[in-house]
Amino acid sequence: MTSERTRERLVQQLRNEGVRNERVLQVMRQVPRHLFVDEALASRAYENTALPIGRSQTISQPYIVARMTEALLGDEQLDTVLEVGTGSGYQTAVLAPLVRRVYTVERIAPLLDQARRRFRLLKLRNIHPKHSDGGLGLPEFSPYDGIIVTAAPEGIPRTLVEQLRPGARMILPIGGAGAQALVKVTRTAKGYETEMLEPVNFVPLLGGVET
Ligand code: SAH
Repeated sequence: MTSERTRERLVQQLRNEGVRNERVLQVMRQVPRHLFVDEALASRAYENTALPIGRSQTISQPYIVARMTEALLGDEQLDTVLEVGTGSGYQTAVLAPLVRRVYTVERIAPLLDQARRRFRLLKLRNIHPKHSDGGLGLPEFSPYDGIIVTAAPEGIPRTLVEQLRPGARMILPIGGAGAQALVKVTRTAKGYETEMLEPVNFVPLLGGVET
């Protein structure tokens, strides 16, 4: 159920769907996704599907996690990354081996506490989880070399763009249910550029987000 073969099958599916970055595929093979869902759902952890994590939230589909990670990394070695929407902590755990340091923020305290326990269990010491409203980003540790948002705002949150280092990227879903797209935002000297990646389906980013 959580065997090597099941994980290998997932990695093969990710390849078939177009994930190319070998470092990302290797991390997807290694991170134990079954530890990020309820025991009752553990047998489905290596299916390429989103699963409920309680409080009306979901752990993202592995393909989307891989795709967003790949888009965030590009060809670079990133130093400090911010994630908005820790949820189960799975996306955070995938990022941790690939960058130097990950800050991650979540507004639902019990979800964050559970994610913290998972990071400790897996000895992921370069993850810094914070309980706060991610729409505000985390200005005290900015600028970031990358930002990944795993809940969807209606538009591009200006505060988050301002916390990117010039040249750095933010990967985020934008829009309401049924009409969401994954977008890559690159901070430029004058403002930012956007590129649409593909249609997605995330839970909404809640709180007072200024776009
Ligand atoms: N990356 C997660 C996906 C979780 S779903 C995973 O791999 O499991 C999105 C998460 O974003 C939810 O846990 C939700 O509570 C959180 N969220 C929504 N709005 C938020 C906000 N304004 N600030 C911080 N977290 C938020």
